[in-house]
Amino acid sequence: MLERCLGRRRVRQIQRTCRQGTITFLCFFLTVVMLRGTIGAGKFGTPEQDFNEIREHLYSRGRRVEPHRVLEEAQPENTESNNYATFDISKILVDEGGDDEKRDPNTPYSLGPKISDWDEQRAEWLKNNSDYPNFIGPNKPRVLLVTGSSPKPCENPVGDHYLLKSIKNKIDYCRIHGIEIFYNMALLDAEMAGFWAKLPLIRKLLLSHPEIEFLWWMDSDAMFTDMAFEVPWERYKDYNFVMHGWNEMVYDEKNWIGLNTGSFLLRNGQWALDILDAWAPMGPKGKIRDDAGKILTRELKGRPVFEADDQSAMVYLLATQRDKWGDKVYLENAYYLHGYWGILVDRYEEMIDNYHPGLGDHRWPLVTHFVGCKPCGKFGDYPVERCLRQMDRAYNFGDNQILQMYGFTHKSLASRRVKRVRNESSNPLEVKDELGLLHPSFKAIKLPTS
Ligand code: UDP
Ligand code: MN
Repeated sequence: MLERCLGRRRVRQIQRTCRQGTITFLCFFLTVVMLRGTIGAGKFGTPEQDFNEIREHLYSRGRRVEPHRVLEEAQPENTESNNYATFDISKILVDEGGDDEKRDPNTPYSLGPKISDWDEQRAEWLKNNSDYPNFIGPNKPRVLLVTGSSPKPCENPVGDHYLLKSIKNKIDYCRIHGIEIFYNMALLDAEMAGFWAKLPLIRKLLLSHPEIEFLWWMDSDAMFTDMAFEVPWERYKDYNFVMHGWNEMVYDEKNWIGLNTGSFLLRNGQWALDILDAWAPMGPKGKIRDDAGKILTRELKGRPVFEADDQSAMVYLLATQRDKWGDKVYLENAYYLHGYWGILVDRYEEMIDNYHPGLGDHRWPLVTHFVGCKPCGKFGDYPVERCLRQMDRAYNFGDNQILQMYGFTHKSLASRRVKRVRNESSNPLEVKDELGLLHPSFKAIKLPTS
């Protein structure tokens, strides 16, 4: 009809104009939507509100126009800078100064007031607090994993990134295994700085948490690489202290690497307090630690010259007082409660090809510990690039076991990026993860039926 009145060409022209008009209108509409997005006016704002917000926005923009930014860049000491990338952190890292009060050098160092009836005190507490049992299942002790790092930022900020990866890795393992976690950044005792800081901390936690049966110390530079391995708790029922190590190397050779103190289990009780007291005397920094270092280097096999460290002190203590402590110490080497990274990290691909998580030993190590890397410090014993590359591989190796629960995996052990290994399902609860870590039996809690 229209065609007949106006002619074919004219109709087409009108149609084209209409189409163009639609496009123009669409463009206009989109521009308005975009502008509202950037300006951030309320979705359901009244025109008046919108107007006020736009005015406010333009005004605050106006106050922060280019010349201001130029000024900021020209004056790096400007305390108002919004730029994190260039901010000098030392400005806020003021030490309150004032040396910690000095201990009388004639009195021997002690971790705290002498306690000799901890077993009785603790038993009484457990009796009165049945909501906090020290065993949360048959053969399943209540465990607190304790780790930590210095109160100061790392020498290179990348060290803090690795601390973050390391604690994320521990949180994952602990969540799956029903273990509580404590991260310490406070130096509780100034004399026990560095690798000795764990001693006062451990004592404090044992005494404050009688409900904890085993405390699991783990260094910040150690990562879980077997998320499926559950510690064989039953094996340690008659022992109080479990470290990775070998009897012959400790007791016969007095080798300083006969055991490792980067990952160990300590049972809460009087025995633990006693061995902590016997362990601590070489710790106080300064002359005591330096002199003790000389004794340890002289007495232990293979030890380099350096100040006394907690590991050498433990080897020395056990080797010289086996009668006193030996029967309650379990030196474990059937799986890697601690595993030296140097012999493990290059073998991960081989492990993936041949084995599976849950073994904990040389086939799939429970823990990979970056001994000597010192990613948070100034200098380590190995090239930084090698350490960081290998730490990434260990992290990703462990993280793949977490990601598989959700259908993902790292693109390679060197890659931060992930890819899908399963399609999304419309019946998500029917999807079973390969390792059964979503709902593992060792985490299950049975409530008493009343
Ligand atoms: N550490 C701490 N506070 C400090 C310094 C160290 O808690 O101020 C802890 C940290 O967890 C670290 C551990 O002590 O991993 C032992 O040190 P490191 O791992 O560097 O020694 P290595 O295993 O290389 O002998
Ligand atoms: Mn370590």
